[in-house]
Amino acid sequence: MACCRWKHPTMSLIQQIDALLPQTQCGKCGHPGCKPYAKGIAQGEAINKCPPGGEETVRALAQLLRVPVIELDPERGSAPAQVAYIREAECIGCTKCIQACPVDAILGAAKLMHSVIVDECTGCDLCVAPCPVDCIEMRPLPANVIPVVGGLAQQAGEFEARANKRQHARWRYEQRQTRLAREETTRQAARAARSQPTVAAHSRAEAEPQTHALRPSGHEAALKQAKITLAMARAQLHKSLKAFGHPPTAQQQAQLNQLGQQFELAEQALATLEKSPQPPAPKTHPQGSDLKRAKIQLALRRAELKKSINLDLPTQELAPLKEAVDRAEKLIASLTDASS
Ligand code: SF4
Ligand code: SF4
Repeated sequence: MACCRWKHPTMSLIQQIDALLPQTQCGKCGHPGCKPYAKGIAQGEAINKCPPGGEETVRALAQLLRVPVIELDPERGSAPAQVAYIREAECIGCTKCIQACPVDAILGAAKLMHSVIVDECTGCDLCVAPCPVDCIEMRPLPANVIPVVGGLAQQAGEFEARANKRQHARWRYEQRQTRLAREETTRQAARAARSQPTVAAHSRAEAEPQTHALRPSGHEAALKQAKITLAMARAQLHKSLKAFGHPPTAQQQAQLNQLGQQFELAEQALATLEKSPQPPAPKTHPQGSDLKRAKIQLALRRAELKKSINLDLPTQELAPLKEAVDRAEKLIASLTDASS
């Protein structure tokens, strides 16, 4: 067994195998990435399933594991040194390619045209199929970009540059996996929180009625501000995407990355605000205005009564006026009780 012959002081067998794989994370080996295939090889799987690695990788794996060199499996397709190119005029900004890219090499956001970061693209071509308008094509890797696929490095410096780039691609892939796991955890927690309002939330709501009463204006203001922030972030990103050349320089890429992150954050902030339940309308105090009206009515009824008394009207004519004053006084008393 290969695993019994292998010995290394610091790296596991899987890590050593993974270090020989090109890190395009393309899945052509039948695994969701290079590391899972490395695990498969460590458990005895064939070493000839990686087209991007090519014959060079098969030889290196055979040497590491001390097994015979075999032919590359032709069923797995081919994988030249290539890079994805998005025809930006046709891009509808659906983000499907971003979701497919295993190393986060595509920049853009919903409803904005997308762009490939050439230096980060491993040429895996996983972004091509999901594009609903077929605006992504694979092009030969430019001569000034280091290829990760096997068989092209000749000099020691080229091998070293390739190893560094592969390591970087692995790191980006792992960062992405970590991010996706974190986002999934957050989503699940949010779902759980939505479906099970906590006791704490109830008591908080009961304990802070005055805060709730103030919330609508605060919520609306926050929503408005979030929309403005999103519009500004979108405009900035759009402007930069248009202004920068293709491919963008390293500095432009860094700037685009930052703008992209700001846009995504603004989008998330707005989505969160829009999803949050609308706070109840502020409670008005009807008793307040009713009391005022009742006091005016009492003053009027008293004035009518006083006028009638001054005119020496008969008792039977004064009686209904007195009753009206009584009713107005009782109404004020009941409203005062209710508001205290
Ligand atoms: S580069 Fe090779 S090992 Fe990595 S996912 Fe693609 S086929 Fe599998
Ligand atoms: S941009 Fe496309 S081809 Fe390049 S790494 Fe991402 S998914 Fe693969």
